[in-house]
Amino acid sequence: MNVAAMQRLIAELRQSGISDENVLAAIGAVDRERFVAAPFAERAWENTALPISFGQTISQPLVVAAMTEALRVGPRMKVLEIGTGSGYQAAVLAKLARRVYSIERFKPLSKEAERLLINLGIYNVVCDVGDGSKGWPGQAPFDRIIVTAAAEERPQALIDQLGVGGILIVPVGRDPTTQVVERIVKSESGLQRDTLMPVRFVPLVSGPLPVLGQG
Ligand code: SAH
Repeated sequence: MNVAAMQRLIAELRQSGISDENVLAAIGAVDRERFVAAPFAERAWENTALPISFGQTISQPLVVAAMTEALRVGPRMKVLEIGTGSGYQAAVLAKLARRVYSIERFKPLSKEAERLLINLGIYNVVCDVGDGSKGWPGQAPFDRIIVTAAAEERPQALIDQLGVGGILIVPVGRDPTTQVVERIVKSESGLQRDTLMPVRFVPLVSGPLPVLGQG
C-alpha cells in the first residue's frame, strides 16, 4: 500500500471533520488501490469517486467515512450493506463490525468483490446477489444497515429489518442534484430521522437486471 498517500487522505478526512478514530483506522487499513480498476490505481488515494464495472462507482472516501461514522458501528454488530459494488465499503465495515452482509444486483461485481475480500484476508463479509431494496429477511434483524445507492423513497423493508436501537443510513432522492443522506434510528418509541449531507449516488434499482453489456 502507498502509505504516504494513505496518510494524506486520512489527514484530509480529519480536516473535513471526520473524528472517529476507529473509522479513520479502518479506512487506513483497507488498501483502496485493490478496489479500483487498474487504470485508476494511482488515483486510489484521492478523495474522489472512481469508476468500477457496469457503470457503477466506488464512492468518494469522504462519503464512505462520513456515512460509516454516522452508522456508529460497534465490534459485536451485524451490519447489512446494500450495493456491494467493488466491496470497498464492505471491507471498511468488516474492520469495525462482527459480521457484514452485503447485497449486489450485478452478479459479476458481487463475485469479484467476494474474491477480493478473501484475497485480502477479510473473512467476515457474506456476499449475496439480488435486489437489496428487499433487504435480507433470513438474516434480520440487523444492528446497522447502510445503503450505498440512492433510494427514491425511504426503503420500508430495510426499516422493518432493523432491530430496536438500530441505525439505517440511506441516501434518498429522485434527482441526483437533490440527494441527501438520511439517518433513521429505531427505538422502542418509534423512528427518529435526521439529514446528514448532500451526496450523488448511482440509483438503487429494483426489479429485473438489464441485459449484460448494456447496463
Ligand atoms: N459500496 C460500493 C459502491 C456502491 S455503487 C463500494 O464500496 O464500491 C452502488 C452499487 O449498488 C452498484 O454496484 C449497484 O449495482 C448496486 N445496486 C443498485 N441497486 C441495487 C439493488 N436494488 N440491490 C443491490 N445492489 C444494488
